[in-house]
Amino acid sequence: MLDTQKIRMDFPILNRKIYGKDLIYFDNGATTQKPLCVIEKMNECYLNQNSNIHRGVHHLSQEATMAHEEARKSVQKFINAAHDHEIIFTRGTTESINLVAFAFGEAFLKEGDEVIISTMEHHSNIVPWQMLQDRKGIKLRIIPINEKGELDMEAYKNMFNERTKLVSVMHVSNVLGTINPVEEIIRIAHTHDVPVLIDGAQAIAHTKVDVQALDADFYVFSGHKIYGPNGIGVLYGKEKWLNAMPPYQGGGEMIATVSFDKTVYNELPFKFEAGTPDYVGSVALAKALEYVSAIGLENIEAYETELLHYAMEGLSKIDGIRFYGTADHKGAVISFLVRDIHHYDMGMLLDKLGIAVRTGHHCAQPLMQHYGIEGTVRASFSFYNTKEEIDTFIKAVERVSNMF
Ligand code: PLP
Repeated sequence: MLDTQKIRMDFPILNRKIYGKDLIYFDNGATTQKPLCVIEKMNECYLNQNSNIHRGVHHLSQEATMAHEEARKSVQKFINAAHDHEIIFTRGTTESINLVAFAFGEAFLKEGDEVIISTMEHHSNIVPWQMLQDRKGIKLRIIPINEKGELDMEAYKNMFNERTKLVSVMHVSNVLGTINPVEEIIRIAHTHDVPVLIDGAQAIAHTKVDVQALDADFYVFSGHKIYGPNGIGVLYGKEKWLNAMPPYQGGGEMIATVSFDKTVYNELPFKFEAGTPDYVGSVALAKALEYVSAIGLENIEAYETELLHYAMEGLSKIDGIRFYGTADHKGAVISFLVRDIHHYDMGMLLDKLGIAVRTGHHCAQPLMQHYGIEGTVRASFSFYNTKEEIDTFIKAVERVSNMF
């Protein structure tokens, strides 16, 4: 299995003391920590290579351009896309979804058309579609969930009609941990000739993603959730869709020629990358993908699943604990409440013990409304977490519970 102690040495932040206690970082769903190699790569870019890309004839610019385009190939390989021009760099999952909502919406959606999403979606996979609803009069259809926090696949199958134009669902829930049957979701949609966008924000760092095997039409994720820097993300889109969609933003990079009479847009992927790209971000993201690949996603998935089961078993013994999300197929995310203790109080007191968890609605207010709650406490694990940390966490939750 994994040599966690060795891995932890790559993450200096994990040595921090918080209020005199060893930091236990269980907020990996929000963002992951960065290994030294990623931080060093960013430094190296700024120290030795910095220049604007795609524009300069000078050496530095050409080096930086090559590094950025190599990074695109690394992402292509990581998710097994057919072409590197199917990889669009964005600011993150949110921007990727907004891009598709705008550009796919412009090209293919009209009043009365339907987009299917689900009850468990993150706001970033709800609000862009609602904006389209306001702009174009489309309708949203919402896949319900069962008591374990799994999608109701029978209901999903029955949602299709001649007005259904797109399905947009998350791969792994950031609240419930549910791993959705995305392969099946895509297969069903394709029998109706409907394309599918998968929000991979919570999946990409935890399970192997192969966009061709999935046959996903769009797959989106954020660099910062896979040990890469903040501010860079990915939109994978099948060439046929991306070519048929208009640009999302106008400006430099995304044009072939401009005159006051007519502008001709650039080809893929540049058509969707207006302005100076975050080349340091893309290169550091590629480093993060290399780092994760060296550990191996199969190893990561197996180890994190072990952490999940270990934590669930320990936490279940706490009097009055309620879990939100008990799917059969579940990632290393645990949402819970203990009796009537407010999630915020629990989070604040755990923080005083050096433990970083997330509290609140997790940008999934409709899901909270479904459960009739305001929020939960959420612990989400990474391959650098340990069973010893989980032991300390369980004792801390018990201690806080006994204080109330
Ligand atoms: N989708 C899911 C499932 C998420 O968990 C998140 C972030 O928590 C997002 C989308 C948004 O990601 P970002 O804020 O990096 O754009």
